[in-house]
Amino acid sequence: MIEVHDLHKHFGGFRAVDGASLAIRKGSITGLIGPNGAGKTTLFNVIAGRLSPTSGRVTMAGEDITGLPPHELFHKGLLRTFQIAHEFSSMTVRENLMMVPPNQAGESIWSAWFARGRIRQEERALARKADEVLDFLTISHFADEKAGNLSGGQKKLLELGRTMMVDARIVFLDEVGAGVNRTLLNTIADAIVRLNKERGYTFCVIEHDMDFIGRLCDPVIVMAQGKVLAEGSAREIMQNEAVIEAYLGT
Ligand code: ADP
Repeated sequence: MIEVHDLHKHFGGFRAVDGASLAIRKGSITGLIGPNGAGKTTLFNVIAGRLSPTSGRVTMAGEDITGLPPHELFHKGLLRTFQIAHEFSSMTVRENLMMVPPNQAGESIWSAWFARGRIRQEERALARKADEVLDFLTISHFADEKAGNLSGGQKKLLELGRTMMVDARIVFLDEVGAGVNRTLLNTIADAIVRLNKERGYTFCVIEHDMDFIGRLCDPVIVMAQGKVLAEGSAREIMQNEAVIEAYLGT
């Protein structure tokens, strides 16, 4: 689905990503781990179009997507959760979901004037879709809650829900587990697995919680000092000496 070829991202003289090459297989839930400062977030930012690379290439299903801006990647079905994570806190959860799909008729001033009937129809369809998404995520009871009142973990679920409002093909998730309680983390993990199995989503997940990684991710890619250090199953990775050393060295 995604191939990264010899990617570099330098900040001045500092090589945050220093010749990373990796592949994210279609249909996988790929984990990306590594010590702090390894370059994981920078790599995500380059793939997701938030930063342009110093050199190197990123392809999606064989097509060169290097340096494309986030909104073009969005149209291709490549989403990074944090770019849509900033919920509109004074709007309800359902309204937050309804905001996602691009090219809604109501966005154009002309159609707003001439096609009010069509807009109402679209809104009803969007509300129905939002309710289906909430049902899928088992959070229908939050539909009319203000998004700002959700806990951190519930907001992560809302982020996942927002990816379901469009036809996502690959979703980059940044630290889903951070500050989330176990019960909610299980709900999030279930949602990821079901999106993967039932909807064919490919995921790439940066995560520090090794339990979460071990349960969900195959393969796991390890980065250290801007490079890919190892790749394998979670079990293989945890027994890999170079990986253990990289973690101990920080
Ligand atoms: P990780 O996500 O693996 O913890 P990051 O990609 O956030 O690592 O950071 C890798 C390195 O790049 C860190 O040393 C960080 O300080 C540096 N870095 C990240 N972004 C910038 C930036 N905008 N300017 C300068 N240095 C940066």
